[in-house]
Amino acid sequence: MHEQAKLAEYSTPYWWEAAPVRPVASQQLAKRVDVAIVGAGYAGLTAGLTLARAGRAVAVFDAMNPGEGASSRNGGITSGSIRPGPAAIARRFGEATALAIEAEGKTAREYLYDFIRTEGLDCDFRLTGEFKGALGYDQYETMARSADMLAKRLGIESYAVPHTEQQSYIGTGFYRGGTVRMDIGGLHPAKFHAELLRVALNAGVVVHAQTPVTAVDRAGPDFSVATGAGIVLARQVLVCTNGYTDGAAPYLQRRLVPVRSRIIATEVLPPDLMARLMPRRMMMRENRQLGFYYRPSPDGTRILLGGRDSSRVGDPVAPTQRLRNGLMQLFPELENVRLSHSWFGNVAMNRDMLPRIFERDGILYASGFCGSGVVWAPWLGSRAAHKLMGHEAEARTAFDFRPPAAVPLYRGTAWFMPAIIQGYALQDRFAMWRARR
Ligand SMILES: Cc1cc2nc3c(=O)[nH]c(=O)nc-3n(C[C@H](O)[C@H](O)[C@H](O)COP(=O)(O)OP(=O)(O)OC[C@H]3O[C@@H](n4cnc5c(N)ncnc54)[C@H](O)[C@@H]3O)c2cc1C
Repeated sequence: MHEQAKLAEYSTPYWWEAAPVRPVASQQLAKRVDVAIVGAGYAGLTAGLTLARAGRAVAVFDAMNPGEGASSRNGGITSGSIRPGPAAIARRFGEATALAIEAEGKTAREYLYDFIRTEGLDCDFRLTGEFKGALGYDQYETMARSADMLAKRLGIESYAVPHTEQQSYIGTGFYRGGTVRMDIGGLHPAKFHAELLRVALNAGVVVHAQTPVTAVDRAGPDFSVATGAGIVLARQVLVCTNGYTDGAAPYLQRRLVPVRSRIIATEVLPPDLMARLMPRRMMMRENRQLGFYYRPSPDGTRILLGGRDSSRVGDPVAPTQRLRNGLMQLFPELENVRLSHSWFGNVAMNRDMLPRIFERDGILYASGFCGSGVVWAPWLGSRAAHKLMGHEAEARTAFDFRPPAAVPLYRGTAWFMPAIIQGYALQDRFAMWRARR
């Protein structure tokens, strides 16, 4: 194969082989709609579907092809996790909010699984469970207590796996035990998006691909939404642009920092090796700030491993090497294995690392999924739709509160990210040293 073509294939998401992102059939722009949605990822499409099924005229706009943002690039792990732990959330927002957020993770996962089942979405979903590795024995003890609490408080099947039993979950000697929770699984993210798109289109959602929204302004009782295809009037506007937010949503742009996340895929591995390294085909993660998430491909033939990509200009060499080193640290026997893919996408962080629905000047926003949007984006997209329709009970969520704080001195260039990443790397080194003393 020509070098250029090989490179393009290498840097294209593995997921696009089975479910390539593509434009949808173009449709004429309506003069007026009930709701205009910016962004056709999981959040925008779920919102659109919910609204269309309730009889609203909905137009969804995407600057790229639908799904070309994070929703077809991610790891497909239905983690639904929240970065700050319950104690940190309680300190900042109160005990009641912390408990509500923890419980909502369970509801949101169940919503996703039920949605996949009832709509018959063909997206390779399996409720495999997730193993989280501990760096040291102290960390293991803390994690074991959390697993126990999760089981007692929320009735989630969740338990500790001591170091001596670890090999039946993961073929590595790197961890000092870990915990398992059985309410997390894996899906094929691009297939899931393609299926969501199919269902949304069937429900009457009009999706305009490669049609950026450039501005949203008040026009009497309506909003005037300027798009690459012309102007549309909308009674309501919902912004679901997450890690791809641009100047069309300046209020959100100052509050969300896009951060690159990268995934590498190995070439096809021998079945006996896969069975040794990932005997239960679980989703995997660990407890480092710059830690890795990893999983078998849905067909169980290769390993996909993801983590932070701190490059600023998109040079894939250094971040790919960092992930490869991580893979070797876990599975030294993969030393000579070749990688077939290495790609990245944007996740969106806000200052308190909590996803949000919030309203500002009449525009509704659903975003800030902080790298855990497979569960949260469909959930909060659907809650946002109910909020627009005034369905109080269905719209209720612990994530509907004040907008995230603006990031100081930030206008779209995350100049501070390299320093933050370095800080995280130092914290990880210190945590590792303490864990292995
Ligand atoms: C590499 C990677 C791995 C990940 N792994 C996981 C995982 O394993 N588990 C998990 O839970 N989460 C994971 N995530 C996060 C998850 O993918 C996202 O949180 C989720 O897809 C966000 O969905 P969304 O609909 O909010 O945004 P997106 O899917 O990013 O869609 C936003 C869309 O908005 C569009 N847009 C932006 N501005 C405009 C404009 N002005 N006009 C029109 N359109 C616009 C963009 O083109 C884009 O398509 C990962 C993300 C990445 C990048």
